Amino acid sequence: MDPNRFIARHIVTLPKSGIRDFFEIVAKMKDVISLGIGEPDFTTPWHIREAAIYALEKGKTHYTSNLGLIELRRAICNYVGRNYGVHYQPESEVLVTVGVSEAIDIALRALVNPGDKVMFHQPCYVSYHPSVTLTHGIGVAVPTHAADNFALTAAALSAAWQPGCKLLMLNLPCNPTGGTCSREQLEQIARFCIEKDLLVISDEIYSELTFEGGHVSIGSLRGMQERTIFLHGFSKAFAMTGWRIGYACGPAPLIDAMMKVHQYSMMCASVISQEAAIEALVRGEDGVKRMREQYHRRRDLVVRRFNEIGLKCHLPRGSFYAFPSVAATGLGEREFAFGLLEKERVAMVPGTAFGENGRGFVRASFATGYEKLVEACTRIERFVQGLRR
Ligand code: PLP
Repeated sequence: MDPNRFIARHIVTLPKSGIRDFFEIVAKMKDVISLGIGEPDFTTPWHIREAAIYALEKGKTHYTSNLGLIELRRAICNYVGRNYGVHYQPESEVLVTVGVSEAIDIALRALVNPGDKVMFHQPCYVSYHPSVTLTHGIGVAVPTHAADNFALTAAALSAAWQPGCKLLMLNLPCNPTGGTCSREQLEQIARFCIEKDLLVISDEIYSELTFEGGHVSIGSLRGMQERTIFLHGFSKAFAMTGWRIGYACGPAPLIDAMMKVHQYSMMCASVISQEAAIEALVRGEDGVKRMREQYHRRRDLVVRRFNEIGLKCHLPRGSFYAFPSVAATGLGEREFAFGLLEKERVAMVPGTAFGENGRGFVRASFATGYEKLVEACTRIERFVQGLRR
């Protein structure tokens, strides 16, 4: 008997993540400096870990409300109001999720009817397009370009728009490009969304890691709070990837719709992680600042070195990723990444893992110690010089 015939058609054709393939090869090699990792090299600050230990000591081992602990939802509303200028009600407009990953999944499952079109800027996070496909929606990629520092422009959005578009997924600052939008650009995008009646799913997971210019949340712009679902979490800024905790804020009817999917699939996020998340929001901002300063210093190093080496690289204003072009080497992004790995043992992710618009680029994560980044750049330089000979 062939078990394959039981698998749903849309799963059979769903591609596996391009990052996974690459890292299965990396995992088998020795002495690799990986600039491929999408998570902080920092361990969660001690006071946050301690809050979780203390919660366990107190016997906090039970399910919570499906929406999440009310103390956490209150802390989220305070944090988001203070830092993003968007104000939500903890009783009805906040849902605690298992990371931003779950929040993306349940937002799409709650909103997308089969055949609905969902726009997202690309290069983008690897899960966006597959998550749309899983809900039987149709993904509409909007290209962003190095010439615009990978900011999404209203002009590109307008050119890609088609009848049937219902949602726009935004990720600013963006994984993998580090690109983000100025207030003016965001205002133009907001006007376009209102004109075309688009609802925005705004994934702001890297927002605290904005190095200059400040972060603007689209939900804070006039007329946008009512058409925005704000997604955020703890993985990146608080170095809490393994805790699997995040949240969604938005208009009560939309949060209620997402809650229905959440209660039947997840029930609730881990209580221990929720307790730790309260501590992160209430007392964690100094730690975030310290980590941001480290990322900032590393960003300046890698971007300067990539440009010196001849890998043209825009300045990512946020996140912990740089997205240099490999065009000047004459190699494609996969050839470059595999060649570099084989010859110099440095791992970077081929840009096409983030969609067709990543062609000709590679993603370098600088969530790696400064000295290792210095060494990685030396190896990359040697590899590029070797190609010229
Ligand atoms: N959104 C973006 C843009 C990401 O880069 C990631 C992780 O890399 C996620 C969401 C998933 O985050 P979480 O760990 O909160 O599920």
